[in-house]
Amino acid sequence: MCMKKKHVISGLFPDELQKLLKDFVSQAYRGRQILDWIYEKNILSFSKMSNLPDKLRDELKLVFEPVSLIEVDKQISSDKTTKYVFKTYDDEYIESVFIPTRKRATICISTQAGCAFGCMFCASGKNGLKRNLSVGEIVSQVLLIRKDNPENPITNIVIMGMGEPLANYENTLKAVRILNHPECLRLAARRITISTCGLPEQILRLAKEGLQIELSISLHAANNVLRNRIVPVNKKYPLEHLMQTARDYIRITNRVITFEYVIIDGVNDTKRDAEQLISLLNGIKCKVNIIPFNPVDGTDFRPPKAFKLEEFQETLQASGVNVTVRRSRGTDIKGACGQLAAHSNNA
Ligand code: SF4
Repeated sequence: MCMKKKHVISGLFPDELQKLLKDFVSQAYRGRQILDWIYEKNILSFSKMSNLPDKLRDELKLVFEPVSLIEVDKQISSDKTTKYVFKTYDDEYIESVFIPTRKRATICISTQAGCAFGCMFCASGKNGLKRNLSVGEIVSQVLLIRKDNPENPITNIVIMGMGEPLANYENTLKAVRILNHPECLRLAARRITISTCGLPEQILRLAKEGLQIELSISLHAANNVLRNRIVPVNKKYPLEHLMQTARDYIRITNRVITFEYVIIDGVNDTKRDAEQLISLLNGIKCKVNIIPFNPVDGTDFRPPKAFKLEEFQETLQASGVNVTVRRSRGTDIKGACGQLAAHSNNA
C-alpha cells in the first residue's frame, strides 16, 4: 500500500519548516519544539510530542511526517553490523547499514534507489537506476537507524550505500547540510564522507561548497583498460581526467582524498596493479583504502587470496602510500552494498 505524500520534516531546513508551519500555528517556538523532539529526543512520532497541543498534533499528522521511510527488513551480523531495508512511499527498496565498533558508530546511507553506473562488483547497479531519493528519504535513514540504536550515539555518516551521491547532487548536499545544521543533527561535516565513482564536474562543484566533508573516490583499477571494465563510468571520464580533478579538488579544498580500491581475486590484485596505482597517485595528497571484495550474487568475482592482499598492501606501504585495509563486516548477512535491497525488490 502506498503512503500518502506529506511534507517530510527531516528533509527541511529549520527556516523552511517555520514557513510551512505558519499555516497551522502562529508561535514560532513550535517549530523549534518539533525539531527538538526529532533531533534531540529522538522522537519520530507527533503523538509523543507531549508539549504540543493535541489539536495541533492532529493537524500536523495530516500534512507532515517526521520521517518518510518504513523499515521492512533488518539483519544483524555476528559482529553487530546491522543492515536495514527501508521501503519508500512508492514501493522502492533501499538499504542502509549501521556499523558499530569500539570507538565509532557509523551509518552508511543510500542516495538513490538503484544506480545507473553499473560497476561490475556491485549489487546496487544490477537493475539500473529507479530514481533519486528525496532529501527527507536520505536523512530519514539516519534518524530511523539512530532511533533503533540509542545506546550507540552516531559518530560518522558515510554516503556510500545504494546509488551515486553526486548524481543526486542537490538532494545529497542538502541532506549533508541538514545533518550538519546546528538546529538539526549537528554532526560535524568532517565526520561525513561522500563516496563517488568519479564524476569530475560534480567533484569540482563539491570543492567549491566550502564544506569540511571527507571525499572518497572509488578507483578500483589504476589503468584505463581495467577500469573501463569494472567501473564503466571510466569510459566517459578516463583516469587522466579523474586524477587531474582530484588534484584540483585538493588544491581548492586543501583536504586529503581517500581512494577506495576493492581488491578482486585475479582481476586487480597483482604487484603490477599495485605499482601502477603508486605511479597514478604520485604527488597526490591522499589515503588508499583497500577493501577485500565481498561476494555479490550474479558475479563470478571472488575475494582476494590473503597473500595477494598482503603483497598489495606491502607494495603500497613500501613506496610511502598511506594505506589501510577495511575489515569486512556483516559478511554473514548478505554483506555487499545493495544485496539486501535487491533481495527485497525480487521477493
Ligand atoms: S559502486 Fe556505487 S556507483 Fe558503482 S554501481 Fe554501485 S552504487 Fe553505483
